[in-house]
Amino acid sequence: MDLQDPMIVEVLLDLPLPRGFDYHASLVTEEDVGRRVKVPWGTGQKVGVIRALKHTSTYPLDKIREVLEIWRDVPPLNARDWQLLEFCSAYYHYPLGQTVLAMLPPALRRVGGWLPPRRVRQARKDPAQSSTLPLNEAQRTVVQTILRQPHFAVHLIHGVTGSGKTEVYFSLIEEVLRRGRQVLLLVPEINLTPQLEQRLARRWPALDWVSLHSGVSEKERARRWLAAQAGTARLVLGTRLAVFTPLPELGLIVVDEEHEASFKQQDGLRYSARDMAIVRARQGEFPIVLGSATPTLESWHNARSGRYQLHHLRERAVPGACLPQLTLVPTAQEGLPPRWVTALHETLGRGEQVLVFINRRGYAPVLYCPNCGWQAACPRCSVRLVVHRRARQLRCHHCGLEQVLNEACPSCGNVHMETRGEGTQQVEERLRTYCPSARLLRLDSDSLALKGSWEKAREQILDHRVDILVGTQLLVKGHDFPDLSLVVVLNADQSLFSSDFRASERLYAQLLQVAGRAGRADKTGQVWIETDYPGHPVLLALLQHETENFLDQELALRRQMGWPPFSYLAILRVEARDVAKVAAFLDEARQKALAREGEGISIFDPVPSSLARKAGFHRWQLLVQGAQRTHLQAFLSGWVDELRALRSGQSIHWVLEVDPWDC
Ligand code: ADP
Ligand code: ZN
Ligand code: ZN
Repeated sequence: MDLQDPMIVEVLLDLPLPRGFDYHASLVTEEDVGRRVKVPWGTGQKVGVIRALKHTSTYPLDKIREVLEIWRDVPPLNARDWQLLEFCSAYYHYPLGQTVLAMLPPALRRVGGWLPPRRVRQARKDPAQSSTLPLNEAQRTVVQTILRQPHFAVHLIHGVTGSGKTEVYFSLIEEVLRRGRQVLLLVPEINLTPQLEQRLARRWPALDWVSLHSGVSEKERARRWLAAQAGTARLVLGTRLAVFTPLPELGLIVVDEEHEASFKQQDGLRYSARDMAIVRARQGEFPIVLGSATPTLESWHNARSGRYQLHHLRERAVPGACLPQLTLVPTAQEGLPPRWVTALHETLGRGEQVLVFINRRGYAPVLYCPNCGWQAACPRCSVRLVVHRRARQLRCHHCGLEQVLNEACPSCGNVHMETRGEGTQQVEERLRTYCPSARLLRLDSDSLALKGSWEKAREQILDHRVDILVGTQLLVKGHDFPDLSLVVVLNADQSLFSSDFRASERLYAQLLQVAGRAGRADKTGQVWIETDYPGHPVLLALLQHETENFLDQELALRRQMGWPPFSYLAILRVEARDVAKVAAFLDEARQKALAREGEGISIFDPVPSSLARKAGFHRWQLLVQGAQRTHLQAFLSGWVDELRALRSGQSIHWVLEVDPWDC
């Protein structure tokens, strides 16, 4: 096309508005669509991305300002990138400009421009042998079946813990790389990347690959992103944010531990990286592989109904390794029962490691006065405050409030306060008295607050400089510690009776993943679960290692109740300092919703939500359910426009979340 100078460009900016902004630009061509620009905005400047070239504007031409700079040092977003971003924006009802800017690495969003860092090669020492395990029969079948279909298909690999899923991914990756395509490997946690980085480096010493996660410095992240976009990096290993990395020759996506909640972004653009990965594979017409020992019910339903292809790895891969033995034991009232102490000593005596799992950090979840009955509660969230004894503080695990831990009861002055229940710190303390010579390591988000501390901890564990690990769910995700043979789950009942319809699914996944840490190599693992409800279906299924039965039963329940995956949800979350404002906004929003409540749509009553994001704020939520996805999407696209038009003012913060994971 022969373009005339001067031109008008439509620029997308990081603003909560559904449209782009027009600017004059000289010497632009269609090649510049998808490039970053610097534009004037008010008295300042902003970074945006060119969406389109135009000859006219609906704005008065003399009011339109001039683009300050077009950055041509890096390639523009291509048609595939736009296709994904547009889908994402429409699906989550999030402005395109904000979607595009959210996807750029932070360094490329800065007005100051971007200078590439000096290329520092990631240490890629070539260890003596590049290790390739010969696949076992089951693994080979999965790999061959998947490789036979180079077109779009979603493959769900359901493999018991330790069944060698990673080896399957690696074989698939190897073949796809050989075919000249790029690969995206998504993992739930930044904690999991050092382990995988090492395995990748060992497997492909000469391969140019990069990892992308929030722990990488901004400059380096931009450099790696650009290497992927340029096609020099052939493989990207990353957490959820990597799902949007431009990869012009992408030919395979692997989502490991697809059930993990951390694939869901909880801020800003609230996308599910797993779901966007599937969309991306469909758009790019290549296969995607989801793997888990405990698939989500959404994926399981898709597999059962034939939309996904289901593959099984039913045995542990290491020859001779069996699944751990699970035992349920009644919850101890106080201290550790003698047989636990014996088991602890025996395990340590054999030179093996122990993991004690308790899903609560801090010292104790309840501080109360035995004299008057007063309990420490958060004045903002009305949940109990958790005792952190070493820091001499009471902390709210919802909103982050911190108070000094006082000796005396604020209500009656009694100085003999008591605690109930226990957290990681107290368990650590107790274990020190039972096993004074054992080396203990506590791992929770308090002890891992320091950057890099996880890596150090991991090395300590692998080098067997630790005997007993005490930790929260941070510990359970896919780590492979060969000397660990006893896992003790304290107080599993905490989460048996939650109101969230996903509670059982989550508890099952969590317990199975913790149990899966035991006996990974040649040692038979023992798992002890403390519970007062040994007949609970979740625990029964777990004891028998009958994940598939559990998933099928759970699916039947969901169908009966009409919950996802048999319906589709969106949540409007509203937050403000002033609870009256929240109520007024929700009321209006609800009226608008009821007015357009059409076929297949149900609107729930607003309920308070304890999870206020900011201190001192009240948060309520309104749930909308659609019988079909199309019903819900049609409803939302009209409703969200009405919400934007409501006079909310600055003091109200609201977000619409599609497919929420917490309801
Ligand atoms: P998963 O991801 O399914 O939990 P991993 O891929 O981490 O399992 O594998 C578990 C263990 O089994 C690892 O120590 C791995 O080296 C080993 N392994 C995997 N495949 C094989 C195989 N074909 N033969 C022997 N060992 C294997
Ligand atoms: Zn008191
Ligand atoms: Zn609070």
